[in-house]
Amino acid sequence: EQGTPLLELRGLRVFYGAIEALKGVDLTVGRGEAVALLGANGAGKSTTLKTVSGMLAPRHGEVRLHGERIDGIASHELVKFGLGHVPEGRRVFARMTVLENLNMGAYRFRRPDPDDLDRVFGLFPRLAERRKQIAGTLSGGEQQMLAIGRALMGKPELLLLDEPSMGLAPLIVEQIFDILREVNEQGTTLLLVEQNASEALQLANRGYVLETGEVVMSGPADTLLADPRIRAAYLGEH
Ligand code: ATP
Repeated sequence: EQGTPLLELRGLRVFYGAIEALKGVDLTVGRGEAVALLGANGAGKSTTLKTVSGMLAPRHGEVRLHGERIDGIASHELVKFGLGHVPEGRRVFARMTVLENLNMGAYRFRRPDPDDLDRVFGLFPRLAERRKQIAGTLSGGEQQMLAIGRALMGKPELLLLDEPSMGLAPLIVEQIFDILREVNEQGTTLLLVEQNASEALQLANRGYVLETGEVVMSGPADTLLADPRIRAAYLGEH
């Protein structure tokens, strides 16, 4: 439907027991956009992604994909709705090969699409070279590439990424973000959680800033990058 955002969160409230981790979050992602979700440790970024991907259920509010309610639907079901999740800490299948990991990403199809494999190997030539290598022996950067590649094998329309830069050297982070830019240009919509606000806002069209479970700022990425409050809090400027 025209005018309907691809993803829409409305009044999302999520609890861990008595702790209210999200206190009424509103957020939209349009088709083809790259949107960054920023905030300090514990602000609720991962909780937001996990609620979208069906790992957590909201107590109040709703999650809509293509205008349809998806909150309460389990993660493995949501893959069929065109949702891909690259979780925090990568979580590749350490004892399987690179190729086996990629094929696992296509589990919702009868068989992996060779065009998708070509796409992933085109984006990540390193994975093509190492297709027979056991994933647990890859470097951190290569494992992050594999986690992204695996998610792409499920043909996601919306790709959720939780801290893709975490624990990686600056040069590798640069490479990963270049590839994410390409993935986005190929038509995949991105919702990205990042501590690395600078890289995230250079990739994103728009951004949201979370603070203790609430959106405190949102707008075009350029505006956020230039905002003195953002520069002080997330870009290390004083
Ligand atoms: P980080 O970058 O540290 O992951 P975040 O912005 O992703 O931060 P969340 O992980 O979403 O933050 O956490 C939001 C709040 O919920 C925090 O106060 C956190 O302590 C709390 N929280 C997260 N997971 C749990 C849990 N399993 N049980 C209880 N409280 C939790």
